[in-house]
Amino acid sequence: MDFSLSEHHEFLRKTVRDFARVEVLPHAKKWDEEERFPKEIIPKLAELGLLGIRIPETYGGSGMDVTSYAICVEEIARIDGSLALTVASHNGLGTGHILGFATESVKQRYLPKAARGEWLAAWALTEPGSGSDSASLRTTARRSSSSPGQWIINGTKMFITQGSVGGFCVVLARTNSDVAKQKGITAFVVEHGTKGFTASKHLEKLGCRSSDTVELTFDEVVVSDDQRVGEVDHGFLDTMKILDGGRISIAAMALGLGYGALDMAISYAKDRKQFNRPIAEFQAVQWMLADTKTELDAASLLTYRAAWLADLGRPFTKEASMAKLFASEAATRACNKSLQIHGGYGYTREFAVERHLRDAKICEIGEGTSEVQRMVIARQLLAG
Ligand SMILES: Cc1cc2nc3c(=O)[nH]c(=O)nc-3n(C[C@H](O)[C@H](O)[C@H](O)COP(=O)(O)OP(=O)(O)OC[C@H]3O[C@@H](n4cnc5c(N)ncnc54)[C@H](O)[C@@H]3O)c2cc1C
Repeated sequence: MDFSLSEHHEFLRKTVRDFARVEVLPHAKKWDEEERFPKEIIPKLAELGLLGIRIPETYGGSGMDVTSYAICVEEIARIDGSLALTVASHNGLGTGHILGFATESVKQRYLPKAARGEWLAAWALTEPGSGSDSASLRTTARRSSSSPGQWIINGTKMFITQGSVGGFCVVLARTNSDVAKQKGITAFVVEHGTKGFTASKHLEKLGCRSSDTVELTFDEVVVSDDQRVGEVDHGFLDTMKILDGGRISIAAMALGLGYGALDMAISYAKDRKQFNRPIAEFQAVQWMLADTKTELDAASLLTYRAAWLADLGRPFTKEASMAKLFASEAATRACNKSLQIHGGYGYTREFAVERHLRDAKICEIGEGTSEVQRMVIARQLLAG
């Protein structure tokens, strides 16, 4: 729909769209096939300000609003879901947690490097045994008995984006087992190269194959109390706020993948002839296009409403979950219908639509599954 709220947002949308067409489109298929994280694009993303979207200019970032963040992610996703996931998670999760809750010295140390792309950010909440029930995480951080200013982290994290290519990771660990599970978790920032902190090899995935996804292990990892992000035992409550914002970006990623697939379907339907006519003349095809456009525009309105509320500083938990739920499921349907319109060719790797379909599926899972979004929405409706 090209939902832009101001001239400034429209300009940003055009800038990022042009960038993605020139710098990403020629390589996205190859990156996906090679399942390789494209390190070479990082300096270009940084140059355009896409690695410090929400970071204030005082720390070298772009200082943009949430609406701009959604626009950037959407436009990259039109071309490449993997890179959109990288931009979304780097900006919204890892750096977002530091920006929102860290001390000034932690912000000074990490945010400028993150904005320059010298250090990509990872954010580690999920574990092999805890996903939707994330508060039941088992990674621990205990105070060192010999050095009171130090913490020792032990545990394993699963499915961590930028886990092996990032420069640092914000990790959530249990610091108090004597209270309700949500109230005994603390966040710490751990740098790559820290003794005992290791990343597994890249996990093989259905989609977003050139995004880096790994398992992380923390074996007696020592961090100083200065590397704590937020108050002790307050990490899970902060995490819920981080996920609210992150869900807007996943909704935006879904929008981009869906609109990208729709563009491909329209173009293919006009070109492809059967029964001596372009298939675009068949009502069955037209209805698929019409339904897709209607659903994606509805998803866009939900997404940018949530972003608008966030920019106003108003509550947006329910709206972010609604946007993510609807946009992610609409995107999967959009990609599936586009592939159907492409017929057998859509099923081959010659056309990008199959990659979009594979990439879109993660939007229904990451940062809370569709089922979890329904739980969040219902909880909000029934509260009060
Ligand atoms: C590519 C990728 C990147 C990711 N990046 C990150 C990252 O950077 N950092 C991070 O911390 N995590 C990351 N994740 C993890 C992601 O957030 C989790 O996979 C997701 O939250 C689901 O958790 P799970 O996989 O353990 O599924 P489970 O929680 O085991 O769920 C399995 C199924 O059960 C359903 N279910 C669970 N509980 C309920 C319930 N109460 N009611 C109804 N249904 C329920 C779920 O909806 C799902 O359908 C990533 C995952 C992937 C695949």
